This record gives sequence, C-alpha cells and structure tokens, in this order.
Amino acid sequence: MIRKFISRVLGRKGSDKRDEPALIAVDQHGLQREQISRGCRQTVEDLQQNGYQAYIVGGAVRDLLAGLTPKDFDVATNATPEQVRRCFRRSRIIGRRFQIVHVNMGAETIEVTTFRGHHGEDGAHGGNTAQTDAQGRLLRDNVFGSQSEDAARRDFTVNALYYDPSSETIIDYHHGVADLQQKTLRMIGDPKTRYREDPVRMLRAVRLAAKIGLAIDPAARRPIREMADLLDNVPPSRLFDEMLKLLTCGHALRCVTRLREEGLHNGVLPMLDVILEQPRGERFVVLALEATDRRVEEGKPISPGFLFATLLWHQVLATWEPLKNGGEPAIPSLFLAMDKVLHVQAEKLAITRRIAGDIKDIWALQPRFEQRSGKRAYGVLQQLRFKAGYDFLLLRVESGEVEQEIGDWWTEFLHASDEARAAMLLPAAPGMAKKRRRRRRRASEDTGQNPNAGE
Ligand code: ATP
Ligand code: MG
Repeated sequence: MIRKFISRVLGRKGSDKRDEPALIAVDQHGLQREQISRGCRQTVEDLQQNGYQAYIVGGAVRDLLAGLTPKDFDVATNATPEQVRRCFRRSRIIGRRFQIVHVNMGAETIEVTTFRGHHGEDGAHGGNTAQTDAQGRLLRDNVFGSQSEDAARRDFTVNALYYDPSSETIIDYHHGVADLQQKTLRMIGDPKTRYREDPVRMLRAVRLAAKIGLAIDPAARRPIREMADLLDNVPPSRLFDEMLKLLTCGHALRCVTRLREEGLHNGVLPMLDVILEQPRGERFVVLALEATDRRVEEGKPISPGFLFATLLWHQVLATWEPLKNGGEPAIPSLFLAMDKVLHVQAEKLAITRRIAGDIKDIWALQPRFEQRSGKRAYGVLQQLRFKAGYDFLLLRVESGEVEQEIGDWWTEFLHASDEARAAMLLPAAPGMAKKRRRRRRRASEDTGQNPNAGE
C-alpha cells in the first residue's frame, strides 16, 4: 500500500526498480554461448541484425545456469509476430489468443514470442477486469509490451532471465540469478494474486522446484494449500498438459509426493489418496514412477498411456473386485470398472481419446496374461499393445500383485523359439475344452446351426 502510494506521488518510474535490471556479465554467470543450440543462436542473431531486440529467455537460461540440459529454447523479442515472420522464410505464426512464431532452423523449431505487456493486475493499469474471470483467473494475455513488462508477467524470478548471446550478458529484472544460486523458487509479485490469475502456477512451482532442486520460497508456498481448489476452475485440457510435463520431467515421484503434501493432488488426480491406501497401491505407484524417472534419465521415450494406466490401476482393481466377487462376469465387469475410473478422472484432466484408448488396451490385456494355454497365449503376443501390457505385468509382479512365476513365464515365452514356445504352453485347464464346446453348442443352438459344422 505504502509503496503504491509513494509510487503514485513520485510517478511510477522513479520507484519501480524493475525498470532497471541488473546486467550480469559472463564472468559472473558462467553461461557460454556455445551452450545455446545453433538454431536458437541464429534466430537471435537474425532478429538483432534486422534491428530488433532478441534474447533467449525462460526455462533454457534457467536450466543452463542450474547445470541442466534445456528441453527447448525460447526467444523473446520486441518484434511483432508479423515482423518476426518476415525475418524468416521458414516460419509461421501459430496461436490465435496469443500469437507466437515457430521458426524452423534445420531440424530445430524455435519458439519466438513478442514481449507481453501488463494486463491490469491489481487494477494498476486501468483495472482491466474484463480480462479475468470471477476468481481472478486471467482469460486473456495478449497485449504487447516492453521487456521489463514482459519480465514482470513471468511467473518465477528464475524464469525471467534474458540472455543475449552476442554480448553474453544476462538481463535480470527480479534477482533471478541470485535466487537460483540460493536455490530458491520465488514468485514475481504477490503470490496469491499470481495464483489467482493462473492456478497452474501452483503446479509449475511443484514441478520446477523438484526438477531443479529448489526450495519454494515460504511466501509462495504458504498460500498453495488454501488456494488449491482454484485448480477446479482450470480447463481440463490445460491441466492434462501440465500433468504430463510434471510426470515426464524426470522427477515424477518427487513431484507426485509433493503434490500430495501441498494438497494439490485433489485437483488433478482425484483418486490418488484412495489408490495409495490400497494394500499394494502405494508400492505399485512408487515403482511405476521410479521406472518413469529412470527412463527419462536414460533418454527413453515415455508413453503417457502407460503412465496414466499405472497411476489409476489400483483404482480399477478396487472397482473391479467387488463386481467380480458379487458374481458379475470377470471381463465385462473389468471394462465397466475401467470406464468408471476413466470417467471420474476425466472430470479433472482431459485425457485425450487416443491416450484413453492406450490405457484401456493395457488394462484389458492384464487378465489375458493368465491364459497360457493353446492359441490364447499366441493371441496375446500378437496384440498391438503387447509390449506395454507386458511391461505393465512386470510392474504388477514386482509390486507383489501377481505371482513371479507368471511374469517369468511370459518373459521366457516372449524370447523363446517357435518350438520352445509350443513346448511351454500349458495344457488347457481341465473342463476348459468341455466348457468351450458347451458354449459353442449353445451359441449354435441359438442361431440354429450345427455345432460341428466347419470343424
Ligand atoms: P520447461 O520448458 O522446463 O517446462 P519453462 O519454464 O521453460 O519450463 P514453458 O512452459 O516452456 O516452461 O514456459 C516458458 C517461460 O514462459 C517460462 O520460463 C516463464 O517465464 C513463462 N511462463 C510459462 N508459463 C507461465 C505461467 N503460467 N505464468 C507466467 N509465466 C509463465
Ligand atoms: Mg520451456
């Protein structure tokens, strides 16, 4: 309040320290221009040669300073999207709400964003309330602005660093370099306001803290628990994207543990508490997330379908078993349980249809691994998702849900020669053949056909 009053009396410029950033030279920050991808350096250079300001910004600068390999490189510039597009033959404008430009440089795609301006935060810029919903969530963020304004609308101080490869200088408006050195994740501005504008920032806080090994500054951490419910107001498709980032950042286990500690999991994985309370649920989820983190470290691809299938499996079991024990037929009741679980989950995260299909394929294969006789085992091998289903089975074995012997059998069967496979097949369970014959006869009686026709 006092600061606002002084700034109004003195005029904003004099008191707004953010307008005078620290310029940090290479001997202080240590980031070398060779660490920036060739395509990204070229993009910045071309924009600068055309007379525009251009910097590498955000996650890439942060990750390099923290000693991590950046996922991708983002460029911020004062050129408008149209001006950027004119600088690069191989570029296109994407996005309608806030346009960005994708510049293709060889195999790389560089995302170029025009500096964004203020959006009426705190009513300080004309109280532009039409841009937010009743909870204070920003609905639009499409005003171009200066670099200092662009820095102020980023979320955390460590994400508001601009690196100029030509001078090798970092422009730091919010003490981000110092925060990174002190291993602190600090919000720019008032954390509550910033979470209200965009509740996904709470998830980003958890993910970035886990990924870079930072402590969330108490001022940014404290409001999370009481504001966690604001996630209910975020579009499920956005939550899905963010959850996927969180689960594939290489520290999924740490992130999910932290989500739970902060009370954020209710908004994204509503069944997590129940799942972790299942006798083997916690062990299964921990094993699955550890395996995911290992795969990320080894640079192997992560299948979102597999990931969500593991997270939700024990809820499927908990829903399926009472149905089965109540005398419902096993397979139809499994499908019923699968649909129920995915339906509850879909209220929070918009799992895409394709991924939901993958999840169901993996789950539906599980009872079939128990069938190791005759043609059935070969049928399982030929399933499109066999490998994912088999990996899933091994996790179930490891967690103690399925007998070791079944996992070993499939491992052997998978790698065996044709003859060895044939020798491995178990005799059909007594009564099975009879049952199958009886079923066939009944079906043909219904259709009036001869049961033995064609045999
Ligand atoms: P990573 O790429 O590792 O997921 P990142 O910080 O680069 O992390 P991006 O989603 O690529 O995340 O965003 C790029 C930059 O845009 C961020 O560093 C931050 O400055 C800004 N940003 C992203 N999301 C938000 C947000 N919800 N609120 C404010 N600024 C954001
Ligand atoms: Mg990024």
